[in-house]
Amino acid sequence: MPIQRSWLRTMVWTLVMLVMLGLAGFMGYSGAYLVSGVLALFGLLSVVGIGSGSYITDCPVCGNQLRGLIGLKRCPRCLSYGKLSEGEYYELQPDFVNKVPLLALPLGDRRNMPPLCCACGAPAARTERLRIIRVEFAFDLDAPHCALHTGGADLDSEPVAGKGKAQAPVLKVKSYAFYRACVKANYPCMT
Ligand SMILES: [Zn+2]
Ligand SMILES: [Zn+2]
Repeated sequence: MPIQRSWLRTMVWTLVMLVMLGLAGFMGYSGAYLVSGVLALFGLLSVVGIGSGSYITDCPVCGNQLRGLIGLKRCPRCLSYGKLSEGEYYELQPDFVNKVPLLALPLGDRRNMPPLCCACGAPAARTERLRIIRVEFAFDLDAPHCALHTGGADLDSEPVAGKGKAQAPVLKVKSYAFYRACVKANYPCMT
């Protein structure tokens, strides 16, 4: 999918950078070097926002508009993951594997695991028990792994869009093949 720059987002990010760097300069001038350094760091980080954060595109799977294309991006409608590559936006390759468990699937009440390794996507041979304890929920989940891999998945929580501070459980995995199969097993209406 071709990408477009959102000028509003570019301007907001540029403003954030200028304010941060301006404050950093002021703090450095008044002797608060640590604060100044932290502000300068945030100012420089917002350059990333000016870059990939201000682009918009359409989801290559479902056509939903996507904004803020920093790193790996999950489509809120069809749950597919994609990223920018050479100026275009693509869905991840089916054999994509991330170094750390980062592909986050909202679990809701669904806990169906496909018979694949969550670290590499090969057929699973055993499981690893994961546990999460939060104020709103607590449960165990057996994450399938092949004989070669350990630590391919992690339980975490993320904010629910439009629900203030409410948190919902997500399963973070390394393998996009596992992730896709997991979407299929838990959200049959989407595929
Ligand atoms: Zn989509
Ligand atoms: Zn594996």
